[in-house]
Amino acid sequence: MTAVMMVEHAVELARLGIEVILVHNPIITSTGVMCDCHKGYACPSIGKHPIDKDWAAGSTTDPAILRQRFEIYPTASIGIPTGRRFGTGRKALPRSMPSNERLARSPRR
Ligand SMILES: [Zn+2]
Repeated sequence: MTAVMMVEHAVELARLGIEVILVHNPIITSTGVMCDCHKGYACPSIGKHPIDKDWAAGSTTDPAILRQRFEIYPTASIGIPTGRRFGTGRKALPRSMPSNERLARSPRR
């Protein structure tokens, strides 16, 4: 997936009212998989952690902010905050529902 596609997916999620954060990305090399954070191969959570330390405060549904963030971090991946604050930890949606529909119906702030 290109950086342009990633930002467009992030913007689409935001338009659905789903808060988005930017997360680090795994990099496959000839010797293994490393994280694009400063820890590289030593990262304990390769490609699975937010770029910002205060990621909860930085989560957004604002497309303009997302576009700015992806200009700064063009190789970032998309993360979706979960848990009570984000309204996705309290109410389970039916598993029989397609995942994209469950995402669109997730409770929002
Ligand atoms: Zn990392």
